[in-house]
Amino acid sequence: MKRAFLGLGSNLGDREAHLHEALRRLEAPRCRVLRVSSIYETAPRDLPAQPWFLNLAVEVETSLFPLMLLQHCLKIERIMGRRRTTPKGPRNIDIDILLYGQFKIDSAGLTVPHPRLHERRFVLEPLAKLAGDITHPGLRQSIRELLNGVKGQSLRLWHPPQQQPDPRPAGGATSSRPNRPSTLQSRS
Ligand code: ADP
Ligand code: MG
Repeated sequence: MKRAFLGLGSNLGDREAHLHEALRRLEAPRCRVLRVSSIYETAPRDLPAQPWFLNLAVEVETSLFPLMLLQHCLKIERIMGRRRTTPKGPRNIDIDILLYGQFKIDSAGLTVPHPRLHERRFVLEPLAKLAGDITHPGLRQSIRELLNGVKGQSLRLWHPPQQQPDPRPAGGATSSRPNRPSTLQSRS
């Protein structure tokens, strides 16, 4: 059994529902979901003119070899109807292998650790919540150190919009809670 960390993202349709569906589908006889990070809403990076993403990281325990784990992830993307129209463009679901134990893999269809992991705050922030102390096997820095080295890149913790306003408590005082805390964080 190996521990691997995956990065999930969505910026089309019901983004949160897509993440939850992908998490459900990741569960398989040889792949068990152990821990899931909070969800972050993140600014698009490579192609800026597209909607903001929701991103999370997930830790899995798996007996699937790396290429089989990639096939598992790509199959889920296919089942969920992902279309690759524009490279780096909008997608209802993206599932990337970030880390697979301390393996370093560089084959035609798979690079692990994910080649752009260390420069992406939308990957490092959720990953650091699960694996802050884990060393990147290529760069010999911890995930937390890599996160601290990333500048800029807007991101905020995602809270699903509430369906109902809070009931007014007896006694007349109003209780108001914003749907979304404005926790925009950006390092510059
Ligand atoms: P991206 O996630 O970079 O926007 P895609 O999701 O369209 O791009 O993936 C394109 C290809 O990247 C996949 O078909 C897969 O073969 C390859 N790939 C290489 N390394 C990885 C990895 N660590 N995780 C996921 N896909 C990877
Ligand atoms: Mg991908």
